[in-house]
Amino acid sequence: MKPPKTLTQLEDSQLQGKQVLVRTDFNVPLEGGRVVSDHRIQAALPTLRYLLECQAKVVVVSHLGRPKGGVTPEFSLKPVFEHLQSLLPGVPMQLLPLPMNQAIPAAVEAMAPGSLVLLENIRFEPGETKNDPALSQQLADLADVYVNDAFGAAHRAHASTEGVARRVPLAVSGMLLNEELVRFNQLLESPPRPLVALLGGSKISTKIGVINHLLSVVDVLMIGGGMTYTFLKAQGFDVGTSIVELDQLDIARQAMERARSLGKTLLVPTDVVVANDFSPTAQHQVVSAEAIPEGWMGMDTGPESVKRIVEQLSQARSVIWNGPIGVFEMAPFATGTLTVAKTLAHLTKTQGVISVLGGGDTEAAVQTAGLSHADYTHVSTGGGASLELLEGIELPGVMALQPQPCLA
Ligand code: AMP
Repeated sequence: MKPPKTLTQLEDSQLQGKQVLVRTDFNVPLEGGRVVSDHRIQAALPTLRYLLECQAKVVVVSHLGRPKGGVTPEFSLKPVFEHLQSLLPGVPMQLLPLPMNQAIPAAVEAMAPGSLVLLENIRFEPGETKNDPALSQQLADLADVYVNDAFGAAHRAHASTEGVARRVPLAVSGMLLNEELVRFNQLLESPPRPLVALLGGSKISTKIGVINHLLSVVDVLMIGGGMTYTFLKAQGFDVGTSIVELDQLDIARQAMERARSLGKTLLVPTDVVVANDFSPTAQHQVVSAEAIPEGWMGMDTGPESVKRIVEQLSQARSVIWNGPIGVFEMAPFATGTLTVAKTLAHLTKTQGVISVLGGGDTEAAVQTAGLSHADYTHVSTGGGASLELLEGIELPGVMALQPQPCLA
């Protein structure tokens, strides 16, 4: 998906003193009324700082969790607002309650340039997830310019991501959204080759669209994690008590057939670590993927297969990694995933390999490995949105933005 026009391509005069509505993804984990991980808030700061420095009147919109329509205090953005105040000291800021009423446009109009308001959780408005035209217009009426910086919500056609963008004179991407789109676009359209993808996670059903699209794009596609066992079963092997999706066996066979007909390498583990229980204290052993004993379940990719993954990664010039290749939350079954995390960080640093990671569990695995976002080329902030990009789907929140002038 081609990146649309972006904030930094606008003239200062298009922002100075203007009401700029920014959609961010502040859907962060909270505990006891406090933000426990502020990665998504930090990721929005470059756009917010840019707008504040340009002396815009910055109106921020976000959702938080899934309130069931209407004002629900436990989903209030107040903890996010307080955290944002600490990250942007000295910036005049206020939190405006919802539902929408006449006081909101009046408050926005009265804002001083270089100040910020945060609207309460936009999902307090029942029209948000319905992409309601009336709510979209109310949001658009607050904006001279709309900036979408919420990659994590760009795959949803909601009032604050899609409807509003179609109703403002100028709608562009923010810095975070632009970075995400540029990275994915580069890998999917003109990657340094060989391009190798590693897909893990628990289920093939949620990744089959990605598998099919990536097969036409990558040079090598490697499978790991719980999906392995559906591929093994589809080839007629016994998988013991491993996680398997019996209704996906044909789908797995079709994917293997597609890889063959495209002349692409599709690698499925040849050895696995099995356990006699889904528990960190279970007995475990390494077995051939073709001979999983009855009563045992596959929990991690085996050492021989991990070695093969490392070899493929070492030959790659760009890598897409989405999903852990074992039950990395349990230490005895984390070796495969942590080896991948460390290998990829090392290759990014020493060989200049372009590494793009996606998915919440992949991010958690990176942390478990003692690594950070800075150790990779790009760690995506959007699980669902990044999967849709890898499936080749155009994101509604992006399509509603203004195209690049040269692409229009
Ligand atoms: P997903 O949400 O589909 O990306 O899956 C992520 C989850 O897959 C993680 O919580 C892993 O623990 C899990 N997973 C990875 N390998 C396996 C496996 N062999 N059996 C069961 N779950 C797995």
